[in-house]
Amino acid sequence: MADQSDARLDQLVDLIVELASGNLSARLEPSGVRDQIDAVITGINLLAEELQDVYGDLESRVEERTRMLKQAQAELERLALRDPLTGLANRSLLGDRIAQAVAWAERGAEPPAVLLLDLDGFKTINDSLGHTAGDAVLVEVARRLTSVMRSMDTVARLGGDEFAVVMPDTTAEQALQVAAEALEVLKEPLTVHGRSVWALASIGIRMAETGDTTDTLIRDADTAMYEAKTNGRGRALLYQPAMHHAVQRRLRVVSELGNAIHNGQLRLTYQPIVRLDTELIAGVEGLVRWHHPHRGLIMPNEFIPVAEDSGLIIDLGHWVSETAISQIAEWEPLLVDNDEFRVHLNVSPVELRRPGLSDHLRATLDLHAVSNRRLALEISETALMSEDVGGLEALRGLESLGTSLEIDDFGTGYSSIAYLRRLPIDTVKLDRSLVTDITTDPGQRRFIGAVLNLVQSVGLDAVVEGVETKAQAQLLRELGCTHAQGHAFGRPMSAAKLTDRLVAQA
Ligand code: C2E
Ligand code: MG
Ligand code: MG
Repeated sequence: MADQSDARLDQLVDLIVELASGNLSARLEPSGVRDQIDAVITGINLLAEELQDVYGDLESRVEERTRMLKQAQAELERLALRDPLTGLANRSLLGDRIAQAVAWAERGAEPPAVLLLDLDGFKTINDSLGHTAGDAVLVEVARRLTSVMRSMDTVARLGGDEFAVVMPDTTAEQALQVAAEALEVLKEPLTVHGRSVWALASIGIRMAETGDTTDTLIRDADTAMYEAKTNGRGRALLYQPAMHHAVQRRLRVVSELGNAIHNGQLRLTYQPIVRLDTELIAGVEGLVRWHHPHRGLIMPNEFIPVAEDSGLIIDLGHWVSETAISQIAEWEPLLVDNDEFRVHLNVSPVELRRPGLSDHLRATLDLHAVSNRRLALEISETALMSEDVGGLEALRGLESLGTSLEIDDFGTGYSSIAYLRRLPIDTVKLDRSLVTDITTDPGQRRFIGAVLNLVQSVGLDAVVEGVETKAQAQLLRELGCTHAQGHAFGRPMSAAKLTDRLVAQA
């Protein structure tokens, strides 16, 4: 009896050791003697059962927590690497992918191309249709961009309306081809809030070379993109080192122009606009010049676009209108018999879009006691067309000023005469490109004759600019043109020189 209980005690000890070592499924059958040892065995079996349950429960809870933790980590990663609006890669993921692609190239693959894409006119969409519409446009652009890329390419949104793509293992030809496809798919109009909008883009491309960092690649692609934008938009350009100098020159212009406006480095020159029958001065166009203390004379084509981009055009425009209007006041005694004389000023679309242009002009006219009939405002055709709705509404706002409104450089855009009729304008200035060949090319002669007829038939005045020779002037006279401007009648000149001409004429 004692031996049997000893054996069971040994088994019991073994069971406890087994359980303690983690095998919670170990059990010992009670002997059936139903003595105290059996009671302890049953108790330990029950305890083991209980322990096994608790442990199992704990294990599945740990599993669940681990799964949740992994999910949260993935979500965090997604947030850290993805653009929340479009789901595209963000700048940081793009950086990783560029570094990866550069590393591949070092192991023998073709280098990667980095494309930078910026939407043209996105600000207008956002301003006129609202931010939800703007967001919808960005999401659709992301979708279209992704659709033309290969699976190994990474499309990213860098913020705002700026996108980037890294194309690993790519030649410049392939990159240009894909960029052209991207521009093509973006040409299809988009419908947001029931309206059709266009999200045209400009693209800059930088092919990586050994040793290039992500920052350099993105910066240079950005430079090429900017160059594409200034050279007509809706294009893709491959980066060239010379572009870097163009950007630096532009940066220098921005940093110096602000001072130039307030330090008297700007001059307004005046170019005569004449009546073709008498060749008497019927007005002048104010054309700004920058006399830089070190670089000498700088022409407007170099700094007006920069001034528009940087917003300095507002200050510049104020300076121009104040200078011109106070000059009109000085000329007024010489103009008693010259009712039609006007000073024509160029207005940039950026000025047009900003509220307050007509208020500022009215206040300046009042200050110098100059009649609104002495002022004419020129807005270039292409500028007006690319500004769509915004520009047109602003033009209507200027109507109340009672000054003459003109379309400048007509013939360089695509506006039809029917479109012109809907604008609150009274004069059309035909671009000089229409005049160049009229003495040698009969077709061109017939063409400008037809344009003059059309403009006059809808009740608008026409001025032809860029008339360089007496022969051109004579031809235009025969075609029924009444007013012209160009080197044939005088180059842009100082106020003093123009005063002499007015004195002689008076
Ligand atoms: P625009 O308004 O079309 O001005 C006419 C341009 O043609 C002027 O160039 C003028 O000097 C030039 N031009 C005049 N006659 C002839 C000619 O017979 N032959 C040739 N080849 N050219 C002629 P400029 O002064 O260099 O001005 C260029 C552009 O800069 C202007 O074109 C205008 O768009 C802009 N601009 C000039 N001044 C201002 C300004 O005060 N404000 C703004 N927003 N833009 C301005
Ligand atoms: Mg003009
Ligand atoms: Mg012009």
